[in-house]
Amino acid sequence: MSPHPRIPGRRFLHSPGPTPLPDAVLHAMSRQPMDLGDPRVDANIATVEVGLKRLLQTTVAEVYLYAANGHGAWEAVVENVADIGQTVLVAGTGHFSESWAVQTEALGRQVVRTPWREGWPIDSAAIEQALRDDTGHTIRAVFAVHTDTASGVTSDLDAMRRAIDAARHPALLVADVVASLGAAPFDMDALGIDVALGASQKGLMCPPGVGFVAANPRAFAQAEANQAPRFYWNWVLRKSELSYRKYCGTPPQNLLFGMEAALELIFDEGMPAVFARHALLARAVHAAVEGWAEAGALGFFAQDAAARSVSVTTITVPPGTDVDALRSVARERYQVAMAGGLGPLAGRAFRIGHLGDCNPAMILGALGGVEAALRVQGIPVGDGVGRAVRLLAAG
Ligand SMILES: *Cc1c(COP(=O)(O)O)cnc(C)c1O
Repeated sequence: MSPHPRIPGRRFLHSPGPTPLPDAVLHAMSRQPMDLGDPRVDANIATVEVGLKRLLQTTVAEVYLYAANGHGAWEAVVENVADIGQTVLVAGTGHFSESWAVQTEALGRQVVRTPWREGWPIDSAAIEQALRDDTGHTIRAVFAVHTDTASGVTSDLDAMRRAIDAARHPALLVADVVASLGAAPFDMDALGIDVALGASQKGLMCPPGVGFVAANPRAFAQAEANQAPRFYWNWVLRKSELSYRKYCGTPPQNLLFGMEAALELIFDEGMPAVFARHALLARAVHAAVEGWAEAGALGFFAQDAAARSVSVTTITVPPGTDVDALRSVARERYQVAMAGGLGPLAGRAFRIGHLGDCNPAMILGALGGVEAALRVQGIPVGDGVGRAVRLLAAG
């Protein structure tokens, strides 16, 4: 027998990235690559750029795409907005803000961190205070993770914009929307975001492999003035009509065919409908967690109910729980793949992703598989699936 026997039916992928690929995306990618002079290459790139700007709700920013993941987009931001030795502020959200801060320091930049309170969104007042304290305006940018995929908490970008303005500080506002774009409303221009960054494998329903940033003219000017030695990530070099320069070499064509198809799916469904679907499915998951929590063992990691993300839910487990064993029962016996706790939450939580190409039947199937796995593992749970069904029946 093969060590990897065929799975009957489908395995439900409920990690918060990668997410399931729609058939239209898979089909769009299963084509031969093209020679770099083929006008179809440029047409595909142009469609992806227009679509990304529409999804980001920007008419002023330019997009730069990289054959990279979200960490590549992080690196692109760091290399362009601050010189070596210069300072950025990283707003504390937990694991993802800390990973970004560590990467920023590894690249020779200084980092000011605002404190993180477990289970709570970014503290805009702490950002304002840190910027007021920076009387010499040495902080070049504020890095904010919109949805922290480890904690399942979404922060208020508008409040951060107001905090920066209240402090009368010129720092750029950079939003990491890797886990929220395509799932939650995001209006880059109206929010006054100078740089937004994303990746292909979460709400965008594409395979991993493309990271991207959108930079407005103010951010581009800062990049242009920045003396930091860089090449692959350099927005100034990538601002070109030639696709080979835009991508600093060969574009990741098949991934971009997939992205064109994915964006078309989003626009065909309609952005408001996509966001409403995510909000509804998130409420179904939250209802299930409330039901499970009645038995006293499980709970929400996100303490502020209003800040619970529409993309991923982080569920705390009692001390001593073997989270890996729980995940493995869910995956191997019930065909539901979910995620574990990250960073400080390792062993303390598991996560259910509910973003991208997902519908009520899929979410109920996933919740049922998770509930069964919890019971197999002897973790006390109340009726979660029933609550989710009732919520969907009422909605
Ligand atoms: C997934 C994620 C990243 C990192 O993306 P990779 O593709 O894994 O490098 C960064 N920020 C957020 C908010 C994420 O969810």
